[in-house]
Amino acid sequence: MTLLDGKALSNKIKDEVKVEVEELIKEKSVTPGLAVILVGNDAASATYVASKAKSCKNAGIYSVVHEMPDTISQDELLETIKRMNENPSLDGILVQLPLPKHIDTTIVLEAIDPLKDVDGFHPYNVGRMVSNLDSFLPATPFGVMRMFQEYNIDLKGKNVCVIGSSDIVGKPMAALLINAKATVTVCNSSTKDLASHTKAADIVVIAVGVPHLLKGDMLKDGAVVIDVGINRLDTGKLTGDADFEDCKDKCSHITPVPGGVGPMTIGMLLKNTVKAARLRETREKK
Ligand code: NAD
Repeated sequence: MTLLDGKALSNKIKDEVKVEVEELIKEKSVTPGLAVILVGNDAASATYVASKAKSCKNAGIYSVVHEMPDTISQDELLETIKRMNENPSLDGILVQLPLPKHIDTTIVLEAIDPLKDVDGFHPYNVGRMVSNLDSFLPATPFGVMRMFQEYNIDLKGKNVCVIGSSDIVGKPMAALLINAKATVTVCNSSTKDLASHTKAADIVVIAVGVPHLLKGDMLKDGAVVIDVGINRLDTGKLTGDADFEDCKDKCSHITPVPGGVGPMTIGMLLKNTVKAARLRETREKK
């Protein structure tokens, strides 16, 4: 069994980004800039945002964290995004989700300039991704694709079962796998007999937020398991959606939690920010 080491791979990606940033500064005098908007005081969101800002700094990317109280109106948030869209030194804009209930997430995400949409959640980028055109890819599924590439896991003609169909992980994951010519089955909480789908899969990607849902007896021998889930147990320990101990002997490859898909996400966000910075000239001509 091969452990898919997302931590090591993420460090490699961060080193790549550092070199790309140095090149951009040297050749085009462009320092990539990322704005992160944090609404409210959700502890988990604040931790994610702090870690994004730290990774930007280490990579030589300029970043600003714009904190807003959860009493902010939707219009005030949209006005902030508009200003950021117009600010030429900001290449990427990211709104940390979830947003407070009185704010319409769709309207907010659609307000971001698609050329600055480093999270890849704007319908423009989602549409281009589904059509297999160049676009910003959502960081988590993008990270999983990079993992497949790095570990030479061939996708063409493989049966892949994606468990979970959220807009952030499951759906974009399925689209990227379809583009890679895999045969894709997408399951959700209404799926009948989940095991019948996972047993037929060469690769299972699970992103549901249910600790240890995937067991070894739901897998075929030699399956690849990609566990996107991050769940905090009452003990404070982090665990995945797959029962690692139960699955590992059935697998050819498996991601640990923590240290698997999680660390990849920030690395791919940095990649997207550099990509956005390369588009700065295109944006300015618009
Ligand atoms: P979500 O709640 O938006 O969606 C969950 C999906 O799982 C839904 O489609 C639901 O129908 C499905 N589901 C729920 N229970 C199921 C069951 N018993 N059987 C089959 N399907 C079931 O969640 P999300 O935002 O996609 O996140 C999923 C998990 O991935 C969470 O643990 C989250 O913390 C984690 N996550 C990790 C990263 C990362 O690694 N960087 C990024 C995003 C999300």
